[in-house]
Amino acid sequence: MSDKFDVVVIGAGPAGYVAAIKAAQLGLNTACVEQWIDDKGKPRLGGTCLNVGCIPSKALLDSSYKYHEAKEQLSLHGISVKDPTIDVPAMIGRKDQIVNQLTTGITGLFKANGVTVIQGTGKVLAGTRVQVTDKDGNVSEVQAGNVIIAAGSLPVNIPPAPVDGEHIVDSTGALEFQAIPERLGVIGAGVIGLELGSVWGRLGAEVVVLEALDEFLPMMDAEIAKETGKILKKQGLDIRLGARVTNAEVKKGKVAVSYSTSAGEHTEVFDKLIVAVGRRPRSEELFSSDSGITLDERGFIFVNDYCETEAPHVYAVGDVVRGPMLAHKGSEEGVMVAERIAGKKAQMNYDIIPSVIYTHPEVAAVGKTEQQLKADGVPYKSGTFPFVASGRALASNEFEGMVKILAHEETDRVLGCHIVGPSAADLVQQVVIAMEFGSSTEDLAMIVFGHPTLSEAVHEAALAVDGHAIHMPNRKKRK
Ligand code: FAD
Ligand code: AMP
Repeated sequence: MSDKFDVVVIGAGPAGYVAAIKAAQLGLNTACVEQWIDDKGKPRLGGTCLNVGCIPSKALLDSSYKYHEAKEQLSLHGISVKDPTIDVPAMIGRKDQIVNQLTTGITGLFKANGVTVIQGTGKVLAGTRVQVTDKDGNVSEVQAGNVIIAAGSLPVNIPPAPVDGEHIVDSTGALEFQAIPERLGVIGAGVIGLELGSVWGRLGAEVVVLEALDEFLPMMDAEIAKETGKILKKQGLDIRLGARVTNAEVKKGKVAVSYSTSAGEHTEVFDKLIVAVGRRPRSEELFSSDSGITLDERGFIFVNDYCETEAPHVYAVGDVVRGPMLAHKGSEEGVMVAERIAGKKAQMNYDIIPSVIYTHPEVAAVGKTEQQLKADGVPYKSGTFPFVASGRALASNEFEGMVKILAHEETDRVLGCHIVGPSAADLVQQVVIAMEFGSSTEDLAMIVFGHPTLSEAVHEAALAVDGHAIHMPNRKKRK
């Protein structure tokens, strides 16, 4: 192995592995340092997303939804399934198989693109040198023309609920339960808490979600958050807002959780407790004090809009830097940085990054919320369309929720789209594309949408912005 590379990437999650592949594709001699090892001592690629994040959580969400459908939904279609059962270890095994397939896939992609994998923990030293400590403690040094830090993030731990990996778990532990807990507590009604609560709730656990804030999903458009709250409650998720967990104790195999609300102190006893209170950047021990790299006040590596740190030729991308902790945001930053190292003028549009909660139905958003537009004093108009008025949604018995589109009052330019409903993740992407091209709602209105499709709800919401919806009475006057 050469100890000199054009680019050395630290971390092989979606930000790092994509950066490494792109850099290699652009003709740069590239290595990727990854500390995670599999049970054979080989580097485990893919990071949080592929191993213990996006992919395994979606595998369990899909399995649990199929079980729920067999139990509760199929009879509506005239299909009878007698007493469906779920084999939890088999479900977890399927998830593991998908994870293995994808992580070995990254190994194959690295080989195909000529990316060198270096097993070990990387630390950036002054002068774009990278120190690597391998699994056996051997220390070596690699010289890099450019360094891309993509060390990702870790779950936040809170002192009142210390994770023991058995009764009190973080998101990683919640992907490994071998049996359905009878009563499941979840701390945090954020994206991860709602997704994991949904998995185990659909399989029969009684799920109580304790959320310190008084508002449900405060980062979402308020109208969509309210609708989402109603739907999830109807599904049986007991979401308690204004409930701050103050203590959790394991006693005789159960977890006693204390929490305070405006009404006083409360206690609940659970079989398992998931701590899902957010993630923090993994920025400790990552660089030497003379490297020139700095952290911001929240512990993220400080970077500018081009993901350049304060040290020349050292970049940082993904969860370890500011911005939404989302896989696709990190990957696109990785591409931008690789292209800039190769001399291209790439940049990233941080205003148009979609985000999704993979509950059923899904919740998806891009751009500004109505509250943000109000707060910014932007003149806006909005159009909504409920899925109950969509023929395709009714045909598939998936008619909860709505599409909401926000546009500038004067220019008509689309400023945001918020959806709770069937296939919201894929539907919102249509508006992401439209926004990237600077579309107005009139542009969307003039496009032909196939019939019958769920995407017609996007079309109708765009039409509704100026009172032109066809398949529902318009709330506002025609313009
Ligand atoms: P990571 O994926 O965390 O990868 C960092 C890598 O760097 C790791 O492999 C780590 O071992 C390695 N590393 C760290 N330090 C060093 C070092 N010093 N030397 C060598 N290697 C090092 N996002 C979505 O967009 N969609 C989803 O549906 C979604 N679902 C999620 C579900 C769960 C349960 C969780 C926990 C997260 C989810 N996320 C989702 C978030 C997503 O996983 C992260 O945003 C994404 O993984 C960040 O990518 P990254 O490459 O920055 O970091
Ligand atoms: P997210 O950052 O989107 O993953 O969401 C994490 C959620 O956990 C936030 O909404 C926090 O308000 C919530 N949270 C953090 N600490 C506590 C606590 N002690 N009790 C209840 N909820 C908490």
